Amino acid sequence: MSDVTGGDGSELRALMARVPSVERVLASAEFGAVIAAYGRTQTLAALRATLDAWRADAQTGRASVDALSDAQLAHAVDARLAKRARSNVRSVFNLTGTVLHTNLGRALLPDEAVRAVADILTRPANLEFDLDTGARGDRDDLINELICELTGAEAATVVNNNAAAVLLTLSALASRKEVIVSRGELVEIGGAFRIPDIMSRAGAKLREVGTTNRTHPRDYDEAINAKTALLMKVHCSNYAVNGFTKEVTLAELAPIAKARGLPVVVDLGSGTLVDLTQWGLPREATVRETIAAGADLVTFSGDKLLGGPQAGLIVGRAVLIAKIKKHPLKRALRVGKLTLAALEAVLRLYRAPETLRERLTTLRLLTRPADAMRLAAERIEPALQRFIGDAFTVSAEPMFSQIGSGALPVDVLPSYGLAVRLASGKRPGGQLNRIEKRLRELPRPVIGRIADGALRLDLRCLEEADEAAFVMQLDALE
Ligand SMILES: *Cc1c(COP(=O)(O)O)cnc(C)c1O
Repeated sequence: MSDVTGGDGSELRALMARVPSVERVLASAEFGAVIAAYGRTQTLAALRATLDAWRADAQTGRASVDALSDAQLAHAVDARLAKRARSNVRSVFNLTGTVLHTNLGRALLPDEAVRAVADILTRPANLEFDLDTGARGDRDDLINELICELTGAEAATVVNNNAAAVLLTLSALASRKEVIVSRGELVEIGGAFRIPDIMSRAGAKLREVGTTNRTHPRDYDEAINAKTALLMKVHCSNYAVNGFTKEVTLAELAPIAKARGLPVVVDLGSGTLVDLTQWGLPREATVRETIAAGADLVTFSGDKLLGGPQAGLIVGRAVLIAKIKKHPLKRALRVGKLTLAALEAVLRLYRAPETLRERLTTLRLLTRPADAMRLAAERIEPALQRFIGDAFTVSAEPMFSQIGSGALPVDVLPSYGLAVRLASGKRPGGQLNRIEKRLRELPRPVIGRIADGALRLDLRCLEEADEAAFVMQLDALE
């Protein structure tokens, strides 16, 4: 179109006169289906917005009168409404290679948990109602027994996440008192969770002992005084201290605390309930072992290695748990019925360790055989190559995935996936980012990662049940 802004404006006025009446357009046959799908109110608003956008384009000479036909307008309005109707919370394909990816929602729930949640979504439940006595109940009682059975703890309580578990524990047990922590464990776990910050939010005074790389039992012993509330150990979830190091183990720390009548609290972070080495995974202390080694309280996440919904579990001595449950923050941090239903269903899977690897999604993904991923890579490769075009090569190759969520940060799992590189063999500039963006813009976005001059799509988390959907999406948008 010609630039209409330079003249006396008559051309622009003529163009504007072509804008049809909203009422007439809405009554046209082309709009029948749009109104049926979205209703008149939304369709009218979207039509007005579409025409406004056309007018704005006309001002700068970028509008075409063809776009004003009933059919074109119906198409534009439908696209506008479809985009708006799409949920903001969407499922994606996690091909980052990180199984418990915090930004992608961490653990995927097993079917058992999905069914348990679905069951109570639309029906009343005994959330705080004791079915034996008919009296008011306690929501923690619904899963206490299971948690204690699986961890060896005396009692348990559940809150919104592990950060809340730590905050509540410190608020209830250490407000206006001192908490002794090794300098080597004053960690920041992604974003806003920093042990010193949580400590001050809880009104506790942090008493740091030792140095970044070395802390000795006597460091704790010498720091204990009349104001000490508890001794705390924090799992160094997302980093490792190597070289000239000395950490005071829980077995060493527990007797020191006991001799002075103080509790030991361990923030395990990921907190697994089973020995992962039986599946060839890296070793991680279980909650049961941590309790057995002398922890009075242990806090851990529900949606990391446990494989359940977002939650924070606090387990340990009954007297301490009782004190924690009485604190007003517990009411603010408690979980809802959906979380409890999902958590209970996931915990029940642990009662049958023989089938856990198959039924617990997180564990199934973490232990997926390399062969299965290699075969998937070979099956998918042609579809991805067609989608991406021949300026790039797609190759099935071994790669390494991570557990994620701070669990076992330095360990990697041999995996298999697809690597996209420039066909010219040159080092890519923005080209790979454009491919990465195209994949991210698909109806069900595909999230990979760019590293070492290649876009890598790790197939560990693309299970066979989802593979057809993945390929169909690529083929449809070729
Ligand atoms: C992950 C983690 C947290 C925070 O847990 P959320 O469930 O994400 O709130 C706290 N402490 C440690 C050691 C962790 O690894």
